[in-house]
Parts: sequence; C-alpha cells; structure tokens
Amino acid sequence: MSAAVSYERVRDQLGRLKMEAALSALDPVLERAQKHEKLAVEVLDELLTLELDARFERRVATNLKLSGLPAPKTLEDFDYEAQPQVPKDVVDELATLRFVHQGENVLLLGPCGVGKTHLSIGLALKAIERGHRVYFLTLHDLVTRFRAYREKNRLDVLLPILTRPDVLVLDELGFVPLEQPDATFLFEVVNKRYQMHKSIIVTSNKSFGQWDEIFPDPVLATALLDRLLHHATTLNIRGESYRLRHRRHAGLAVPAA
Ligand code: ADP
Ligand code: MG
Repeated sequence: MSAAVSYERVRDQLGRLKMEAALSALDPVLERAQKHEKLAVEVLDELLTLELDARFERRVATNLKLSGLPAPKTLEDFDYEAQPQVPKDVVDELATLRFVHQGENVLLLGPCGVGKTHLSIGLALKAIERGHRVYFLTLHDLVTRFRAYREKNRLDVLLPILTRPDVLVLDELGFVPLEQPDATFLFEVVNKRYQMHKSIIVTSNKSFGQWDEIFPDPVLATALLDRLLHHATTLNIRGESYRLRHRRHAGLAVPAA
C-alpha cells in the first residue's frame, strides 16, 4: 500500500474513531517526525497522548459545567492570615485529594462569613481539575428538589444525581430545620455514599451538639453524624466574618452582631 493511501486511511479511521485531537494534529506530528527522523512508535505515542489529554480536558470542562458550583473560589485565593483558625497544612493535605480516594468526608463548621463555602468550593475545584465528578448544592436546594421529585414520584432519578459523583458538597446544613421526610432522605443519601466509600463535604453554621436542632429526630441526627464522622476531617472555624473584618480594617461601619 502506498504512503498516500495509508495516510488517507489513517485520516478516515481517526475520524471514524472520533479521535478529533489526534486527527487535527496528524499533519504537524507527521511533519515533525519526518524532520527529526522519529520512530513510528514515537509518532503513535505523541498522537495518543494528545488525544487523551484533549479528552481529559473535555471531561474536566463537562464536570465543571455539571457540578453546580456557585462561584469560582480557589484555595489559592484563600487568605490564611485573615483566618488563622484554618490550618493551612490541613487544607494542603485535603488538597492532595487523598480524602476523595479514600472516601473520607470533610466537615467545615463555623459562623457566617468565615470561608466555609469558599473552602468547600476550592476543594471541589481541585477534585474537578483532577478528573473527579462533583455535585454542589445547598441543603435548601436538596430539600426543594427532594420535595419536587417526590411529588412526581421520581426519587429514582434524584438519588443517583446525589450518589454518583465522587464528591458531594452539601452547603449550609443547619440554616433551615428539616422535616422528617427531608431528614430521612438526607440520611438515605449520606448512608448510601458511606456504603459506597464516597466523600461528602458539609458546611454548617451549627456545632455537632446543635444538630438536634436541625433534625426532627435525635436518633436520625446521631445516625447521620455517625456516618459522616466515621472517616472525616473536621475544621472548626471560629474567627470573625471575612467581609466584616475587611470593613473594620478599612475603618468602615460594622453592623452589630
Ligand atoms: P461562609 O460559607 O463561612 O458563610 P464564605 O465562604 O461564603 O463564608 O465567605 C464569605 C466571603 O468571604 C466569600 O466571598 C469568600 O470568598 C470570602 N472569604 C471568606 N474567608 C476568606 C479568606 N480567608 N480568604 C479569602 N476570602 C475569604
Ligand atoms: Mg456559606
């Protein structure tokens, strides 16, 4: 078979295999290979690496789009000096994503404005960058969706949305008290993920001792905490709200607490 026929066949086959990145890089890769007398195996290596890299980038972009993250907050943007209650070494360890591979949880507790959501998004972004699937929602969103899907008798659709991602972020647990069916559903989600060794990041303005106030049933609250805390890193952030601190430092009025 002549080189021209082989070339046409390779183009056609790359197209049929939907290897778009390899197809569009084929000509420059072949030209460089000829110029530098590269081996056939090096050409294959380069084309396959290009294709896999492009696929990974596409996956990351899709995962980011589907994640529901509310704002692009990164760990690099987090000001540790402003929040000495947050130990950087613990966050750095979490950022290695060992907790995701081991299916461990992260609990970020503290009052409003201390950076809980920021840190949860920062960790979620790290996970997405490394190819993991993430789903972020507030407890309020979860309850709203639970009620809507239950109404339509389609909890079978909602449950996988919450159990399939590698990381589930549940933001703002404790802002609204849960009714019994909401709490039971939340327990079902947490328990399922616990059994599947999949991570949950929870942010809450309530300390563990106050979880009885969120849940209608203390037995359920205990069972849920039990699952969440079994393998978990807890960060108790006490300090002052970041925005209020900034206002104070800028000499602006700070509303009374
Ligand atoms: P929380 O979830 O604890 O109520 P947020 O994470 O929403 O607080 O933080 C409130 C705002 O302050 C956000 O815009 C967040 O990015 C910012 N912020 C809080 N703490 C820090 C920090 N230590 N460094 C940088 N930005 C911060
Ligand atoms: Mg928050």
